[in-house]
Amino acid sequence: IEKAAPAPQSGKLSLQVSLVLSPGLGLRPLPVFGAEGGYRAARNWQRQVKGGRSKGTGAVTMTRLPARRSVLAAALGVSWQQRLLHHHGVPAAWRRRRCSGAGSKAEDSSSPVTPMLKHLMFKIKATGPITVAEYMREALTNPVKGYYMHHDMLGEGGDFVTSPEISQIFGELIGIWYVSEWMAAGKPKTLQLVELGPGRGTLTDDILRVFNQLGSLLNKCDISIHLVEVSPKLSEIQALTLTGEKIQSELDVTSPVYMKGISKAGIPIFWYRELQDVPQGTSFYLAHEFFDALPIHKFQRTEQGWREVLIDIDPKAPDKLRFVLAPSATPATEYFIQGKEARDHVEVCPDAGILIQKLACRIQEDGGAALIADYGHNGNKTDTFRSFRSHELHDVLIAPGTADLTADVDFSYLQTMTQGRVATLGPLKQQEFLKNMGIDVRLQVLLQNSSDTAMHKHLLQGYDMLMNPKKMGDRFNFFALLPHQRLAHSDQKANLQHSKSLSTSVAGFGELVWK
Ligand code: SAH
Repeated sequence: IEKAAPAPQSGKLSLQVSLVLSPGLGLRPLPVFGAEGGYRAARNWQRQVKGGRSKGTGAVTMTRLPARRSVLAAALGVSWQQRLLHHHGVPAAWRRRRCSGAGSKAEDSSSPVTPMLKHLMFKIKATGPITVAEYMREALTNPVKGYYMHHDMLGEGGDFVTSPEISQIFGELIGIWYVSEWMAAGKPKTLQLVELGPGRGTLTDDILRVFNQLGSLLNKCDISIHLVEVSPKLSEIQALTLTGEKIQSELDVTSPVYMKGISKAGIPIFWYRELQDVPQGTSFYLAHEFFDALPIHKFQRTEQGWREVLIDIDPKAPDKLRFVLAPSATPATEYFIQGKEARDHVEVCPDAGILIQKLACRIQEDGGAALIADYGHNGNKTDTFRSFRSHELHDVLIAPGTADLTADVDFSYLQTMTQGRVATLGPLKQQEFLKNMGIDVRLQVLLQNSSDTAMHKHLLQGYDMLMNPKKMGDRFNFFALLPHQRLAHSDQKANLQHSKSLSTSVAGFGELVWK
């Protein structure tokens, strides 16, 4: 605390410093797995896509389909007998590369006919090729066989690993961010922490340890936790993580709250399936690796104009799927492609747009803030749709329902979709955000607090994974939504203090000041 500079605003920075230095927060037990698992924004993926793309883009050929009509075709006023553009591009080239590694797990499972694949094939036979968004939605969140619904995919025994699972420091620093923003909002009497897609509940658990440590500051505040989660399996794990026990689902099926519990420190926790079910009120929202799981539409520029990429049954291999192009423009191409679009291949996630609009409206009306952390870009990337299984890349069209599907988040689209209702900060690289939040000091405190060499190794490996620009440091980004008055307020103060920029007054987006 002595090292902290005098706080420029409301004691916020000194609060961060004192918390970062606090040995009282303690160490999380060592996990059974290390920090070397596969994360979903891995570099090797980037290389493979680049390789695939350079040959793939634009290599679109036409294929005649066997005679059959579809509802979609009927809706579009064309028949599939006419002609359908077969997209031989990226996905095919990419697929070959990805599965070429000797002994890869993805290869072992090539082409198993999963129940989800059968379901999708029936659907395609009945109504014609489906959009990538429908494919993703079904494969990930279908209540019966969706990937997220019935198993734990995080950690070593799963398919990918995320930052909160890698290091406790991640969640602690995010916890400090929320306390800091709560203070900047004038310490409102209620604080709803709303997490979208909480995974195993690890991030919220680490945040709650910070809240607990700050009991004297938060004791007059009515805190509650609201988790938006579709997966029955993951919500069961979240309940165990956060309350220490198994919780029965609510009997009243019409209730928007499907589970209720009390955290280990006595804070009420509620589970919902959708954001709109969470009560209005001053809320602080968190979405970590959530937006990338929302369904995307894919579009390809052709000589005839934009065409949506669809998924169809491969006529040469009836138990396989393939990408095709819609034979004509559809309402989706009309509505989702921006007039000034310069790319040849575009992914659009309307679900993310709707969600951001809802968050922006809520923050505009009730105050609070939202912190979104994910891998992504600013409207310049093209084909980022990919799949992970057992910590390795997997073919997006093989064994749907048994592998993760994901696409990079387009932060520029999210910003556009706030429609100016709130101010936005970022996207800022993870390594910069965490550095600004004091990760180096926190690491030193934890290292000093433990004499266990295995713990030291774990902490250092975790730090490297989160911060190294070649690992997660540069690929993950932080993006915040804040009420306009939050920055306008800081603006006046910042001007008074001749500060460099507005964002420096918001933790993480500005540097912590040290003497
Ligand atoms: N935030 C966690 C987990 C990321 S995985 C972490 O970083 O470790 C994505 C999470 O979002 C899972 O909990 C998954 O079940 C949930 N999820 C995916 N799609 C969802 C949807 N449409 N609605 C609500 N939750 C969803």
